[in-house]
Order: sequence, then structure tokens, then C-alpha cells
Amino acid sequence: MAYLSLKGINKIYPNGFHAVHDFNLDVEPGEFIVLVGPSGCGKSTTLRMIAGLEDISNGEFYIGGELANDKGPRERGIAMVFQSYALYPHMSVYDNLAFGLSLAGIDDDVIDEKVNSVASILGLTDYLDRKPRALSGGQRQRVAVGRAIIRKVGIFLMDEPLSNLDAKQRVTMRREITDIHRKVGSTTVYVTHDQTEAMTMADRIVVMKDGYVQQVGTPYELYFNPANLFVAGFIGEPPMNFAYATVEEGRIELFGSPVDLSLVLDDDTLASYEGKEIAFGFRPEHISLGEGEGYTFKADVVLTELLGDNTNVYVRSEDTDLILKVDPHDTPAIDDEVSFTVPLKSVYLFDGDTELVIPKKQ
Ligand code: ATP
Repeated sequence: MAYLSLKGINKIYPNGFHAVHDFNLDVEPGEFIVLVGPSGCGKSTTLRMIAGLEDISNGEFYIGGELANDKGPRERGIAMVFQSYALYPHMSVYDNLAFGLSLAGIDDDVIDEKVNSVASILGLTDYLDRKPRALSGGQRQRVAVGRAIIRKVGIFLMDEPLSNLDAKQRVTMRREITDIHRKVGSTTVYVTHDQTEAMTMADRIVVMKDGYVQQVGTPYELYFNPANLFVAGFIGEPPMNFAYATVEEGRIELFGSPVDLSLVLDDDTLASYEGKEIAFGFRPEHISLGEGEGYTFKADVVLTELLGDNTNVYVRSEDTDLILKVDPHDTPAIDDEVSFTVPLKSVYLFDGDTELVIPKKQ
């Protein structure tokens, strides 16, 4: 049985704004779920409804099979970590970790054992006597996580916990949080707008846009089998390239070259798109320079960014801007014309109206 179950959840704020539409999700015990999407898509609202900090306007929310809509935050067995660490500045790390347990009237020696065990999981043993101001951002964040996990609750909720850290610290904390999750095993719902965090941390990702769930899947599923154009463009860095064209006699004209779609679509599907607009998508990292097996195009190089392990090549073809990811040793010169090939298996096609993915032939 799912540990958390959200069935047809909606949030309509008192001013009438419908922030979350028909949200459905079953979360297995111990699963790490990431809600991801651009600012304002409703991810924090959803998390706050799970936490009991925001009323559910309609729909049902179950914890362990029990209806929890009307349970207060304290009755839900949750711990939350927010973007701001909310540590007590005048207390030591030890006291920050111990505080919740002291309030609950737990014996000092039990508290001591728990604080030491959590500090050791989080690498904070040497910092227990320090005040928060004498810690780095990453260390403070670990104390905030420690305060949440020390209570051994079943559900762990995190809202953009890494956004105050610099890029290096974020990478480290990402790994630490997934590591802690593995050790502690709490069911986790984690909110971020950062697709890299979602991809690297989640068991399953929920992609949201404008209050609607776009797709739920593993990082692998979302990357290789996006359900629609939004998910395809949101997951992956640099983002997927798109170009629009109208199907005529089973072909589209793309970047000055004819593209025979019968190579990727079966006859019935292709016929149903005759005269309609489609979006042709491919990922920057799935091309090869030069001629090859697949669709080959030409483009002019506008800018190159050498990143070390690869080069991002910004090109333009027929007024469409594209990004290609190439081996740094193959970095072309600015203003060069390059040809590149998209293998058939790396082509994504989307319905120009609905933006849903068009299934390719097997
Ligand atoms: P961010 O990443 O910027 O935090 P989010 O995806 O978490 O965005 P929410 O905070 O859930 O988005 O907000 C979803 C939508 O609901 C936004 O358009 C926001 O303006 C709106 N909203 C949030 N709180 C309220 C409120 N109390 N009353 C009315 N509308 C609200």
C-alpha cells in the first residue's frame, strides 16, 4: 500500500486563485519524490498541503491509508526543512539538535545518544559546541537537516533546502541528502525548481506547470520518454532543441533540408499529421558532427563555450537557434558552417497543438 496518497487534490486560495489542479500521486514507503517546475507552478502549495500548513480545497490525502485532510501538522508525523535554515542563533549546534526532543520531554541521556548519532551521520561531531554563526552555509544546512531527522518521523518534507548555498556546496549537499535518505529511509517529498537537483536526487520526479502535473516518472523516464514538449524542454541541460514545421506529403522542411518522417513514424500516425504543425526536438548531447546515420542538417556557428568535458556550440539555422554539445577537441570556429546528424532514435516529435509527444514507430 502506498504510504502517502494524494487523490484529486486541488488548492483554491481564498482570493479565488486555483493554484493546484487535480494532483494525483501515490508515494511508496521510503521513496524520494521531487516536485519540480518553474516558479509559481504550485509545488510549494502542494508540499504545504501535505504538511498540513495549507488546507486542501478538495480531494483526499491519505497517510498510511488513513484520511489525513483534517489532521494538524503535528499529527501527521512530518519534519520539514525550509530554504531558510531557521536555526536558533544563540544556541549551540548540540542544543539546536536537541531542542525538539527536550520540548517533548525526552530523557537527557536518550537525547545525548540521538544528538551524537545524528551528528555523526551528518559529519557535525566536531561542531557540536559552535553557534550557527560560526558555521558555513553547508554546515548550517546540515544542522537544519539534522533537526528534522533526529525526530525519526515517517515523512520528511523539504522546500528548496539548497537554494542559499553556492554551486559547489549545492553539489555536496545534494549527495549528502541522498546519502542521509538512504541511511534514515524516511519517505521524502522535496521541492525544487532546479532540474539537476531533481534528476540527481529523486527516485521519481513530478514535473508541474501552472498548477498541473505534467508527468510523473523516474529521472530516466523523464529524460528519455518525456510525455510532452514542456517536460522535454524542462528536463535536460542545456535544454532540448525544438523546431516547428508543417507536414507535407509525409515530410517536413527543416533547416533547408527535407526530412522524411516515414523513417520515424508509422503510416497511420504520419497520415494523421498531414497538413499539421509539429515540433521536431533533439537533445544537444545526442548529435554527432558531420554526416552520419539519421537526419543531417547544416548550421552556422554563433558562439562556443568550452566547459572542459564538452563544448556547447550555439548555432543558427534558418532563423532557429540551436545548441549542440560536442567533444571539446572538435570545437568549431565561430562563423564556421557545420553539419550535424541527429540519429533517428534521438528524434522527438510533438503535436503542434496539444504539445503531446507523438509516438514513434518501434
Ligand atoms: P516558487 O518556486 O516561486 O516558490 P511554487 O511552484 O512553489 O513557486 P507556489 O508557491 O505553490 O509556487 O504558488 C503557486 C501559485 O499560487 C502562484 O501563482 C502564487 O502566486 C499563488 N499563491 C501562493 N500563495 C497564495 C495565496 N496565499 N493566495 C493566493 N495565491 C497564492
